Amino acid sequence: MGDHFQIIVDLDATAADAAELGGRALDWLVREGIVRAGRTDCVPGARTGHPPGEKWAKAVLEPDWEPTDGLDIKKGRRVFLGGQGDARYAICPRCAARTWFYTERWEPIEEASTAFDEAIRTWDATGEAKARCPSCEQDSDLTAWRWDGDYYAFGYLGLEFWNWPVFAPRFLADLARVLDDHRVAAVGGKL
Ligand SMILES: [Zn+2]
Repeated sequence: MGDHFQIIVDLDATAADAAELGGRALDWLVREGIVRAGRTDCVPGARTGHPPGEKWAKAVLEPDWEPTDGLDIKKGRRVFLGGQGDARYAICPRCAARTWFYTERWEPIEEASTAFDEAIRTWDATGEAKARCPSCEQDSDLTAWRWDGDYYAFGYLGLEFWNWPVFAPRFLADLARVLDDHRVAAVGGKL
């Protein structure tokens, strides 16, 4: 079976305001009845988290099974990524060309990801990195690139939900409003 997670990442939160925004998001989720304020042992790999509230169903697309675990709020710079697997390609924010790291059959393309791996390590260490597009040969901020399957998100605030049904777009939009209309990305996967 394994555990599924969905991480809602605030792409515009900064090192300075992530804690305040995370607190505000939690207050809203508790007020809406989506999670509970009290912490319990409900998150794989973390000591405690916030278990589902009685109105959890309004956050999800198809409430056909009950979430079994809770919410862990990650504050601070972090490369958020989907679980198993990888991104097959990245999409340039300037020319929209795809840079492929694997073939359609998931065979790795030699050297294709070297510069991107380096940029990801740099961003993780410093919060700033650029990646060059092999098609248009322009540098763009790593955070502006899009990834196959939304595999990566780079940010300072992530709401990590374990073993919940897929969230509804409406819920993500409402949450984004609570976060000062920031852009949010949903990264999901399985461990
Ligand atoms: Zn390009």
